[in-house]
Amino acid sequence: MKKRKVKKKVWVVLALIIIVAFLIYGGKKAYDDYKYKQTNEYKLLEVGYSNTETKLLLEKLDKKKIEELINSEKNEDIINFFKEKYFILKNLEEYLAYKKENNALSYSEVVTIINVNRNNDYYKDDHEANTSLNYSMLVNKYYKLSADYEPDDLVTIKTDHSWGAYGENKIRKDVYDAFKDMWTSAKESNIQLMINSSYRPYSDQERVYNNYKDKNGETFADKIAARPGYSEHQTGLALDIFCTTNSSTKTFADSEAYTWLLANAHKFGFILRYPEDKENITGYAFESWHYRYVGKELAAKIYNEGITFDEYYAYYIEK
Ligand SMILES: [Zn+2]
Repeated sequence: MKKRKVKKKVWVVLALIIIVAFLIYGGKKAYDDYKYKQTNEYKLLEVGYSNTETKLLLEKLDKKKIEELINSEKNEDIINFFKEKYFILKNLEEYLAYKKENNALSYSEVVTIINVNRNNDYYKDDHEANTSLNYSMLVNKYYKLSADYEPDDLVTIKTDHSWGAYGENKIRKDVYDAFKDMWTSAKESNIQLMINSSYRPYSDQERVYNNYKDKNGETFADKIAARPGYSEHQTGLALDIFCTTNSSTKTFADSEAYTWLLANAHKFGFILRYPEDKENITGYAFESWHYRYVGKELAAKIYNEGITFDEYYAYYIEK
């Protein structure tokens, strides 16, 4: 009889322990659930973002932006912009605004336009070109050089390599060395490259530009020439390259020399700076003759990715 009573007691205690354990477990679970529902992760998932998207948004965006996303419908644009290869986080708001206004454009077109400033008018916000970047400095219709910028390592180009009198054509030393290597290599394919224009000081560009402007007005001048300070020729890193048998801006693109340069220039550190169909990115119509020295490593990267220098600069240098 005594034994039985003890057994019963044990059972009761056991049952109580189990009940308490369940209560604690259940309570904790309910509390954890409650806590989780307060998190931004839960709230983003509730809006409709997938697990991966939620993770990405939480990792990349600040609290304010997350708050905004939680309080609105799922924003497909954000997700699509994040997937773009040349996506730059600090440009996100601009991408979103531009896409809203220009819905027909693809996400990748919007990314390109914003990255290279094309949503702003030329010559309006004067950024100083960062000359300390040396061979990877950017000079275009948004980035200008000061009137007194002149490279200190200019050398004279020989008349074997350029038209005009000796002493007229100058370029930075490393650029000339690279050009000479390229010239020798082209010669092996029976192509004799010739430089038509090289370093141009601010004052020269000013004269050229003002000449057009005085004769035909600013709109015309802007189409034909860069404004002083905005010409890549002032960097001492740009060359206009033709060949002995063709020096025409109209037909050079049909020449063997052009084809050879297109396939080989990057091996010597040069890139075609204003390629065909990229006017809206570079700000210049196709120039089959204008090459820019950026060094071998950069030239190879730009060549392989098939992008313009402006795009490269925005994504790989300025970002
Ligand atoms: Zn040029």
